[in-house]
Amino acid sequence: MPGRNHLFVPGPTNVPDRILSAMHRPMEDHRSSSFPALPKGIFEDLKKVFKTEAGQAFVFPATGTGMWEAALVNTRSPGDKVLSYRYGQFSHLFIDTARRLGLDVEVIEIPWGEGAPPDQIEARLKADTRHEIKGVLVVHNETATGVTSDIKAVRQAIDAAHHPALLYVDGVSSVASLPLEVDAWGIDAAITGSQKGFMLPAGLGILCMSPRALAARDSAKCPRAFFDLGDQIRANATGYFPYTPSIPLLYGLREAIDMLFEEGLDNVYRRHHRLAEGTRRAVAAWGLSLCAKAPKWYSDTVSAIMVPAGVNGAEVIDVAYRRYNLALGAGLSEVAGKLFRIGHLGDLNELSLLGAIAGAEMAMRDVGIQVTLGSGVGAAAEYYRSTAAPLAGAASAPVAPRAATAEKGTSRVAVGA
Ligand code: PLP
Repeated sequence: MPGRNHLFVPGPTNVPDRILSAMHRPMEDHRSSSFPALPKGIFEDLKKVFKTEAGQAFVFPATGTGMWEAALVNTRSPGDKVLSYRYGQFSHLFIDTARRLGLDVEVIEIPWGEGAPPDQIEARLKADTRHEIKGVLVVHNETATGVTSDIKAVRQAIDAAHHPALLYVDGVSSVASLPLEVDAWGIDAAITGSQKGFMLPAGLGILCMSPRALAARDSAKCPRAFFDLGDQIRANATGYFPYTPSIPLLYGLREAIDMLFEEGLDNVYRRHHRLAEGTRRAVAAWGLSLCAKAPKWYSDTVSAIMVPAGVNGAEVIDVAYRRYNLALGAGLSEVAGKLFRIGHLGDLNELSLLGAIAGAEMAMRDVGIQVTLGSGVGAAAEYYRSTAAPLAGAASAPVAPRAATAEKGTSRVAVGA
């Protein structure tokens, strides 16, 4: 199909040309004397992304799933009790990983569309007077339902219960797109991957551990080999890795961090919020609702849009893909068929997102959903127009319209181009 594929799944996200170019390079010796400058700079700058001075960042050739495992095996022993909340497919898989690693996971079921409940966490931890619960596992942004949880409030709940449990946060679809503060929010393990906010292909697992989490390695008995942070700490100290790193992905990560810093992390968060809000205006104009049940849970990286009863959300996705070259996210597990998702994270702007909203609108009509064509696009466009930054250095004199110039007999060359 001519034209670009419009990739609007919530990861992998679009890889900017700058990052593609940065990764396009010959292999090099990862044990050379000049190599350490690259990882050392990345480790230091990742700490700024995670907003930590005390913590330490790690990069593995892995994915977010691998970082769930790395965070747990380096801090826990088989049979350790941890508390978790299931409110979507990714919190479910985090729980599943912990169980497969031999942890005793207490799961509290939360309706899909809601987020982590700080009051319940506080009550449960207060009841745990013997401090048997060693960790609290929370997914910051549940990509399956488009729900963002309040991690600061979760930390406050743990502190209010005067409980020593470590706080493990899955930030796979939030880090580098939504505010996440390791030090200020008392996060002990922040977990992510390369293919979302970092705008890279999948292939890097990125982890940030607090000093308390690193100290827990001393007593943690879970077997670990590839994911042993001890090997990383020793090798990373000199700018190397305990194995062959993915050199193109490291150069890509370097470029991605540079791009995030050039825009400014706060501006990156603001951009995501604004783009998400336009998408939400479109959903409201369609007369549809989000899976997220209240505004406090609305995700600025992904909108999960409920389709009317009797319609299969998978059909919207299939038509969008085959007819309009638009990739939308599917409903997963419990919400399969009930929704489709628009990923709005990473490298995107108003017009690219308006393309996705237009494609979703057309595909919905094609499968029989009675949305008015243009309604979502119009609502989002109006929001983007009315909230656009003023034009810096705009000319004070109005620019003469081209047609008017032509009428005055200016040559074709002057009005063309
Ligand atoms: N956690 C969340 C919130 C995710 O969205 C994903 C993937 O989409 C994962 C974990 C798993 O990450 P990966 O696919 O990189 O292993």
